[in-house]
Amino acid sequence: MDKKKAEVYKRRLIEKREDLLRLVSKSDHDGREADEEVTQDLADKAANSYTKEFLFHQSDDNRRILHLVNEALGRLENGTYGLCVACHEDVQVKRLEAVPWARHCIECQEKQEQGLL
Ligand SMILES: [Zn+2]
Repeated sequence: MDKKKAEVYKRRLIEKREDLLRLVSKSDHDGREADEEVTQDLADKAANSYTKEFLFHQSDDNRRILHLVNEALGRLENGTYGLCVACHEDVQVKRLEAVPWARHCIECQEKQEQGLL
């Protein structure tokens, strides 16, 4: 991948990382607030734990993507960005455009989703 292109992806990854960091710390904060609300009513309690559960899963997803974004930035540093981590072929540009932190090319991603990788 040429330097210019790598720079573009790097900027997008860094932006994404900032977004995710904001979301992760916000959902941590919201989770604590849900905890602090004193609820007597059972329906409220159920709603409260539902909110917490939802925030937890949401932040879990964000953390997972954050990890992938960090990995992709690492690959940019060591010059392996844009290569599939499984077959070491180029990841399709279309895929990188949609998911700049993709670890696998489309074929390997499909294999992974089917549990073949
Ligand atoms: Zn591959």
